[in-house]
Amino acid sequence: MPIYHEMRLLRTPWVRCLTLCVLVTVVITCLLAFQPIKSQRDCACPEKNVMDLKLEKMAIASRVEDLPDNLSWGPHRLAVIVPFRDRFEQLQKFVPYLHRFLNEQKVRHIIYIVNQVDNYRFNRASLINVGFLQSKQLCDYIAMHDVDLLPLNANLSYAYPERGPFHIAAPDLHPKYHYKTFVGGILLVANKHFQKLNGMSNKFWGWGREDDEFYRRIIDAKMNVSRPVGITTGTNGTFLHMHKKDVRSRDMIRTVEQRQNEKRDRRTGLDTVQFNIESKMLLHIEEAPCLVINVQLHCDISFTPWCDMPDRIKGLMSIRNLSPEKQRTWLQQQLDNLDSIIRMKEKMDDTLEIKAKKIMDT
Ligand code: UDP
Ligand code: MN
Repeated sequence: MPIYHEMRLLRTPWVRCLTLCVLVTVVITCLLAFQPIKSQRDCACPEKNVMDLKLEKMAIASRVEDLPDNLSWGPHRLAVIVPFRDRFEQLQKFVPYLHRFLNEQKVRHIIYIVNQVDNYRFNRASLINVGFLQSKQLCDYIAMHDVDLLPLNANLSYAYPERGPFHIAAPDLHPKYHYKTFVGGILLVANKHFQKLNGMSNKFWGWGREDDEFYRRIIDAKMNVSRPVGITTGTNGTFLHMHKKDVRSRDMIRTVEQRQNEKRDRRTGLDTVQFNIESKMLLHIEEAPCLVINVQLHCDISFTPWCDMPDRIKGLMSIRNLSPEKQRTWLQQQLDNLDSIIRMKEKMDDTLEIKAKKIMDT
C-alpha cells in the first residue's frame, strides 16, 4: 500500500527533519506576509521623513520659488498679472483654465493675482505696476490679463514678445472693444520694454482709460504693437468674456478734474507707485497654482482727489444695483433731505433779513 509506505518513510530521521524545516519556513512566511504594512510617515528614521517632505513639496509647493518649472520649454518665463478685486467666481474659472492653456503651449509661467484691499476706487494700472515689481525676479515678461477674459483659440500665442508689446485681445478679436488703438484685455510686454515705458500711469482710479494712456506711452517710445495673425474665430469665438454688466456694474463715475487729467501722464508710473503688501498667499485652484498678493495702494489726495469718492456719489452708484422700487424710495429720501435743507436755508435767510432790517432802522 503506498500510504503505509509513506508513513514508514516519515519515521526515518532525515525525512522528519526535512518536513520540520519545510513547516517552519511556511509558518515564518505566513507570519511575515500578514504583518501590517507601515507607512514611511510612521518611521522614526529622519532620512525617510525628509523624503516625504520633498515629495509633498513637489505636489503642492508652498512658496512661489518652489513651483514646478520646466526649463526645457525655453529660456523665458511669463508672469500673468491679474489686477483683481471681488471677482472670486471668475477667478475660480480663470486660474485652472489659463494654467492648462499655457501648459499646452509649453509656456513657463506664474499667475499673480494682485488683489486691491484698500478702500480706494479700483486702480488697474497701479496693480499691474505692483505685479511687475513683484514678479520681475522670477519672470522676464508679463501678460496684463483681465480675470474675465479666457482665450478659446489654441493658436493665440503667449510666447515672449521680443519685438515690442503683443496685444492678444486685438480689436478684431475682442468680444466688446473694437477701436484701433485698444490695448486692454490681454497684453504681453517684455520686462525690458515695460521698464523702459516706466510702467503704467497711477492716476486712473475707477473704471477704464488707463490702457489708452499706456498706448500713448508705447507710441511716444516709438515701440510697435503687434497682434495675432491668421486667427479666424472672430469676435464671438476667440475669447470668452465672463463679464456680466447687470450683475457687476463698473465704477464709471468721473469727476470734472479727473476728466481733465486723462491725457498722457509724464509724471507717474512704475517709479512712483506707492503701496504696501499686506500679505501673500500661494493658492491652488483645482491644482493650478497662483500667487495672491494683497495690496494696499496709497493715494496722494492732493494730487488725485478722485481716488476716493464722496459718500454722496458712492450712494448714487450703489443704488444702481437696487430694484426700481428701492431706487424710488432712495430718491424720495434724498428729495426729502433736500427739502429740509432748503427750509433751513429759508429760515436762515429770514432771520438774516430781520437782523439786517434792525441794523438799517437804528
Ligand atoms: N477688475 C476687478 N474688480 C473690479 C474691477 C475690475 O477685478 O471691481 C479687474 C478684472 O481683472 C477685470 C478687469 O479689471 O477683468 C477689467 O475690468 P472690467 O472687466 O470691468 O472692464 P472691461 O474691460 O470688461 O470693460
Ligand atoms: Mn471685462
